[in-house]
Amino acid sequence: MSNSPSIFSRIIAREIPADVVFESDTLIAIRDIAPKAPVHILVVPKTEEFSTVAQLAAGNPGLLAELVAAAQQIADEHCGGQYRLIFNTGENAGQTVFHVHAHVLGGTLTEGSLG
Ligand code: 5GP
Repeated sequence: MSNSPSIFSRIIAREIPADVVFESDTLIAIRDIAPKAPVHILVVPKTEEFSTVAQLAAGNPGLLAELVAAAQQIADEHCGGQYRLIFNTGENAGQTVFHVHAHVLGGTLTEGSLG
């Protein structure tokens, strides 16, 4: 587990500004500060109990299902329901924030834009 609070917890607490596109009791979705695609939105559980998607799946599968449903809804609204859903796991895979989050990538993707 990484240091707490994570950058996303600070966004959830409104200590840091972000472009919020969706929020529920359990999730927040924000535009990525460094977009890798025309639509690049992060869907983040409000709890930072889980660092990775596998931990989330094991520890709270209902919350993972909520996250996937929210990603679909966001993609329906922002990119016609066509998107990639990416969870980076581990530094070598490009994970920089160890508070689980999904990248919703949509629009016309360029090669290598894996979030
Ligand atoms: P990871 O590399 O962990 O899979 O994804 C972390 C993502 O968070 C990156 O795409 C990065 O651009 C984004 N990010 C990092 N800091 C901030 C921030 O302060 N605000 C927003 N909106 N996105 C951030």
